[in-house]
Amino acid sequence: MRVLVAGAGPAGLYFSYLLKRHDPRCEIRVVEQNPPDATFGFGVVFSDRALEFLRADDPTTYNLITPELEAWVDLVVVHRGERVVIDGIGFNAIGRLHFLRFMQQQAASVGVQPEFNTPVGDISGYDLVVAADGANSTVRRSADFGTRVTHCTNKFAWYGTPRRFEKLTQTFLEDERGAFNVHHYRHGGAMSTFVAECDAATWERAGFATMDEAATRICLERVYAPVLDGAPLVSNKSIWRNFPNVRNARWSVGNVVLIGDALRTAHFSIGSGTRLAMEDAIALVKALGEHTPPEALRAFEAARRPIVDKLVAAADASGAWYDRFAENMKLSPRDFAWSYIQRSGRVDPERLSRISPKFART
Ligand SMILES: Cc1cc2nc3c(=O)[nH]c(=O)nc-3n(C[C@H](O)[C@H](O)[C@H](O)COP(=O)(O)OP(=O)(O)OC[C@H]3O[C@@H](n4cnc5c(N)ncnc54)[C@H](O)[C@@H]3O)c2cc1C
Repeated sequence: MRVLVAGAGPAGLYFSYLLKRHDPRCEIRVVEQNPPDATFGFGVVFSDRALEFLRADDPTTYNLITPELEAWVDLVVVHRGERVVIDGIGFNAIGRLHFLRFMQQQAASVGVQPEFNTPVGDISGYDLVVAADGANSTVRRSADFGTRVTHCTNKFAWYGTPRRFEKLTQTFLEDERGAFNVHHYRHGGAMSTFVAECDAATWERAGFATMDEAATRICLERVYAPVLDGAPLVSNKSIWRNFPNVRNARWSVGNVVLIGDALRTAHFSIGSGTRLAMEDAIALVKALGEHTPPEALRAFEAARRPIVDKLVAAADASGAWYDRFAENMKLSPRDFAWSYIQRSGRVDPERLSRISPKFART
């Protein structure tokens, strides 16, 4: 089988690795528009529960990646300066670049070498084309997938900082400009991820529309001074964006199939986009082991859609909660943390009292 994979992000690299490992006779060509050491953003986080899929489906990769992860238990919500700890939830984080290098090595170990600095071109002449080229997929434009893209109303900018935060923390702040929050956690020995966020009205009032990248960073260092405690923000093309919610009515057309963010994005506040991308890869390789395309592509969608739909509903609810976080800030810190933990509509209070007994008691 001749396979073209567009994009060497988590979805494309992991799919290529798994397929070649499963069937070394496959000819797999991976094209990536960027050089091998380019990435956007900083770290990504997986909950312990989110990593369970990897332990179950691919223990080899799970065992190799686990020592590379920063791990901790608990998440913290800070509101009006009060720290509310939601205990008992385990997390694992890794720098995005570190993760991509790991995935590149895994792909190389089975003989897959992506062609870097190569934007996808002609997609004809392959038995299978896998669009793993992210939220703005070019391959997706080659046919009618019934694509719909809407945007969250909040603005976010993805920074790093050399300040180490021990736990995944959500800090909410208010000043004369309005309401801000930040998602921050360590993802490597000396670096933490720092995703700044504010609502559209605050963004307007603060005058971010007319600030360049450097002025924005300096302004945000002042806004988040109580969190950064003198540490700088580090930029990596860190510009304000509205999170895109990508949905597709059709997952495949002919021999072209979408996976990862090209298929659907999941709001970053549930930390599941990379996990979903990897699970897509696992499910697609499984379907290809049992059927040939295009039947395999139908089997992939049939098996995976119900699972994805549930997670996407949770991600949408979480994204909507963040778009309204400024209103919720009138709540006391504990009520606010309760509203936060309930935001995806998937947290059953009984289960929460088992996992987070201290938080549930208070
Ligand atoms: C602020 C923020 C925080 C996040 N935090 C988390 C988190 O904590 N946990 C988590 O699991 N997920 C998180 N995510 C989501 C995660 O980053 C994505 O879901 C994940 O990267 C999707 O992987 P992918 O391979 O599908 O797409 P991408 O990572 O976007 O990779 C696509 C690749 O395709 C390449 N490409 C694009 N167009 C072309 C072309 N025309 N030709 C060739 N190559 C092309 C790109 O250069 C890129 O390398 C976050 C996202 C954001 C925005």
